Amino acid sequence: MKVWVLGSGSRGNAIVVDSGSTRVLVDAGFSSRELRRRFAAADIAPESIEGLVVTHEHGDHACGALRAARRWKWPVHATTGTITAMPELAYTDVRPFAAGDTLTFSSMTIQTVSTSHDANDPVAVVATDTPSGARVAVVTDLGRESLKLRSVLRDVDVLVLESNHDDVLLARGPYPISVQRRIASATGHLSNREASALARACVHSGLQHVVLAHISQQCNTADHALAAASAALARSRFRGRVTAAPQDAVQGAFVAATGRSRAVQLALGF
Ligand SMILES: [Zn+2]
Ligand SMILES: [Zn+2]
Repeated sequence: MKVWVLGSGSRGNAIVVDSGSTRVLVDAGFSSRELRRRFAAADIAPESIEGLVVTHEHGDHACGALRAARRWKWPVHATTGTITAMPELAYTDVRPFAAGDTLTFSSMTIQTVSTSHDANDPVAVVATDTPSGARVAVVTDLGRESLKLRSVLRDVDVLVLESNHDDVLLARGPYPISVQRRIASATGHLSNREASALARACVHSGLQHVVLAHISQQCNTADHALAAASAALARSRFRGRVTAAPQDAVQGAFVAATGRSRAVQLALGF
């Protein structure tokens, strides 16, 4: 199981999850031209994508969905709320689901989980490679975590998690108070502090990569996000790697061990 972050931040998000024989794109928040460029950087043929899952309708996650899905003939999976907010998806092979449903692809399932964010029925996703059981979570645009989300993330091998803003930099940043409040609200975005606490709660023997995503360019830096997560994870038994995903470059592949090597890890007590 592999993950490429084609880019992440308020100017666009797209993440490829690859089980070896099935590739799914989570979000298409870049133009199809930009997506093509980023797929090429990851050496991935866009035609090899089996389906697109749109987590919510905000432009930084969905602006390229219509054109890319039509160009590369991808089915588009989205909640009925997202589809309502994006009527243009009617011009694609759109496949509605309800938050909480599990989507089935050739050799991968994707569990969807409702998230708290100011969008129309948004979700986070956890992909499971059917043959090996390896699991990858993509969680961005989240105002507050939930017990349900925590329980679903408990045994993932790769965690792509929003670490949007630093509390101090948000207060000192360029945004008016109303926007600061929206970002920090229960339907906004996770701070470094909140993301670090959630990442730490997800630590288990199989967690190999924590990829910090959706890092604000106005109210955060990769160094701030990495410092917060590293400090929190240092107080746990986490022995994997922490990485900050950039907005303007492709990063990956992050590789989740197969079920077999994971079993060996468990047996060795990692
Ligand atoms: Zn976003
Ligand atoms: Zn959003």
